[in-house]
Amino acid sequence: MARYIGPSCRLCRREGIKLYLKGDRCYTERCAIDRRGYAPGQHGQARRKLSEYGIQLREKQKAKRIYGVLERQFKRYFEIAERKKGVTGENLLRILESRLDNVVYRMGFASSRAEARQLIRHGHFTVNGKKVNIPSYLVRIGEVIAVKEDSRKLSRIKELAETAAQRNVPQWLEVNAEAMEGRVVGLPAREDIDVPIEEHLIVELYSK
Ligand code: SF4
Repeated sequence: MARYIGPSCRLCRREGIKLYLKGDRCYTERCAIDRRGYAPGQHGQARRKLSEYGIQLREKQKAKRIYGVLERQFKRYFEIAERKKGVTGENLLRILESRLDNVVYRMGFASSRAEARQLIRHGHFTVNGKKVNIPSYLVRIGEVIAVKEDSRKLSRIKELAETAAQRNVPQWLEVNAEAMEGRVVGLPAREDIDVPIEEHLIVELYSK
């Protein structure tokens, strides 16, 4: 499966904000945005006025980068969001939030979505008792996401479960950090999704 393998901090610098792609490092003084908060490349420090299209494009790129989704899949999510009832932009964010890698991250069982993706691919998580190693799996209400029985003794997983107990979990999820599992209790409302994305710009871009 195709995925971005370049430097993560470069993506934040390109968008000009912290996208929190590297877990714990993002909260330290080693964060590249704090040290070099301008765009990468030779002309990174030049001032540029973006066109309307440019602004919309950057918003889409930002969303893709936050959730670690490539163009084809992102477009597919948009098409599903369009077909659903309700506001397309909010539907899109709700779909992105329902990805298993995002849910594992939100529950606190990974320090970033990238780490969640890696742990899922390595088969450390189950959904309703069955191993799921597909990070893009879309969770549904009532499903229980848990660390697989024999993965519970791994030191990194234990460390993450300990910190999960202190994490702020959105109200559409319930977590039992001690049991290393959580449940999806609802769908996220827009105010539960704390990503700095103006989704209407993405809708405008795709509607051109
Ligand atoms: Fe982005 Fe984190 Fe790198 Fe800072 S440390 S630039 S927030 S990925």
